[in-house]
Amino acid sequence: MKTWSWKTWRWSLPSVAIVAASLAAFCAGGHFAAKALIQSQQMRQLGELTDVVLRRSEVAVDSGSASMDEIVKAGNIDCEPAALQAFRLRVYQRPGVKDVRLANSDGSVICSAYSETLEFDKGWVGRSDMLPSRDSSLLLFRVEQFGADALGVMRDRGDSRSLVAILGINSYLFDIMPAELRAHSTVTLKLTNGQALGEFSLDEIAVVHPIDFVRSSARYPLLAMISVDRAALARWNGQLYWPAMLLAALLGLVFGLVLIRTRRVEGPLAELDRALVREQFKPYYQPTFHLKSGAILGCEVLARWIRDDGSVVPPMNFIPLAESTGRIRPMTWQILNQALKDLNALLRERKEFKLSVNIVPSHLLDADFVPTLRRVVASAKVATRQIVLEITERDKLDDIARAAEVVRELRDLGFRVAIDDVGVGHSGLSQLKVLGATTMKIDKFFVDTITRDGSTTSIVEMLVRLAKDLAMTVIAEGIETADQVQALCSCGVEEGQGYLVSPPLPIAKFAELVEVQQAKSDIRAALDAAMVA
Ligand code: C2E
Ligand code: CA
Ligand code: CA
Repeated sequence: MKTWSWKTWRWSLPSVAIVAASLAAFCAGGHFAAKALIQSQQMRQLGELTDVVLRRSEVAVDSGSASMDEIVKAGNIDCEPAALQAFRLRVYQRPGVKDVRLANSDGSVICSAYSETLEFDKGWVGRSDMLPSRDSSLLLFRVEQFGADALGVMRDRGDSRSLVAILGINSYLFDIMPAELRAHSTVTLKLTNGQALGEFSLDEIAVVHPIDFVRSSARYPLLAMISVDRAALARWNGQLYWPAMLLAALLGLVFGLVLIRTRRVEGPLAELDRALVREQFKPYYQPTFHLKSGAILGCEVLARWIRDDGSVVPPMNFIPLAESTGRIRPMTWQILNQALKDLNALLRERKEFKLSVNIVPSHLLDADFVPTLRRVVASAKVATRQIVLEITERDKLDDIARAAEVVRELRDLGFRVAIDDVGVGHSGLSQLKVLGATTMKIDKFFVDTITRDGSTTSIVEMLVRLAKDLAMTVIAEGIETADQVQALCSCGVEEGQGYLVSPPLPIAKFAELVEVQQAKSDIRAALDAAMVA
């Protein structure tokens, strides 16, 4: 069976359609996968950025809380100059802390590290409006100082005196967005009651259709939010898209090619079936000839598989598979029908012309073989005695009695039956007798050795004697030289077949060969007639 290779690659419309469909499917899949991948990556990255905002804010609160804890540890919690100096020292040490104050338990301020700043406070809330943290002694609230938002952190000490750290919320704390999104996003920190503590955005900001990413702190009543413009987000990280699409297209192309390849090498049996449907099995014809005169007496039909590309596959590459899978039956009828069509005029004109067809033993033994054969030959209006059925002796006949019965039936109908490859098969000479065939085809093996080997001559002579006894015609196969013709004639063989006269030919060439021979014999006949006259 012909195997696939890149050299034999041929494009057909279905192949192109398969590759195009595969490309389209993979590109569509690639598009959605790339989009989903990019989106999930964006979600993850923006989630992480929101976390960063929250962490930075928590660290700021931690810093305020730590400064108050240090003051408590130092022990002087009052409004004396020494205590206020200690407050200022903490403010100095911690950049985020703007002020430290002493407050009553209701949240009202008693004194401040910088008492002059007190008058600039706006929106100072009472304890009841302060928001608790996971550490319940820490309360958070918003206060406005000098027109800017600040975060108040009160450390409730459980007695009448509480400490408050005022944290300045530097919006540059939130300048964390990547360059592509910086002008299309806002980063906000809020208290969980919705009060904004700080926001970072560029002046020329354009967040038309925002997508929000929100994270809330587990430790403090704080919310971080990043709002990004949808269109800007769609463009962000888009560099992944085209490589992903290219990869998808490549995969689609490879998949399409693999699909075609598997279609092409889908298995020899499927190929055989397709060839049967397309009637690609054609008869070739090899003449049988009279050894002495060279006159063409008939021909053997030999199957050839003509592929789409015009290549010719020899029978040994498909007959065994066709035989083992039962396809030999439709194949035989296809070939015989074609042969009867090709040679119809010749067969009807020259009644002595014989057409030999190869029949596998299992087909011969089919119940409907003989009726079908009769019908096929009758509908071609060809005489049954012009048809020779060649049964090979190479394979063992399982049911010799039944085979003999079929051979008798065929002979009764006028058909001729040849035993093919005589001398190299499993069955002994006794089978020849039992089968009752009309013709014996001596295998090429004997023809090859007859000019070199004396024992071959004896065997051929013996076969010729046997044939005579059984009233069988003898045909020697595979004759390639004139010496072989001579040797065969000496043994008493009268008919032959072989490259010496012609290889198997397609119908046009075979018809030409027959015509040329006919013309020659006509000339000879005319000359003979002239001589006689
Ligand atoms: P076969 O029936 O013994 O056919 C004779 C084979 O010998 C053919 O080979 C033919 O081309 C080859 N041959 C004839 N003269 C010469 C010669 O001088 N020199 C050499 N080297 N070869 C020669 P082919 O056509 O390849 O067929 C091989 C076998 O395939 C046939 O052997 C036959 O058993 C089988 N076959 C062919 N066509 C059919 C068919 O339609 N049906 C069945 N069942 N078998 C077929
Ligand atoms: Ca044959
Ligand atoms: Ca043969």
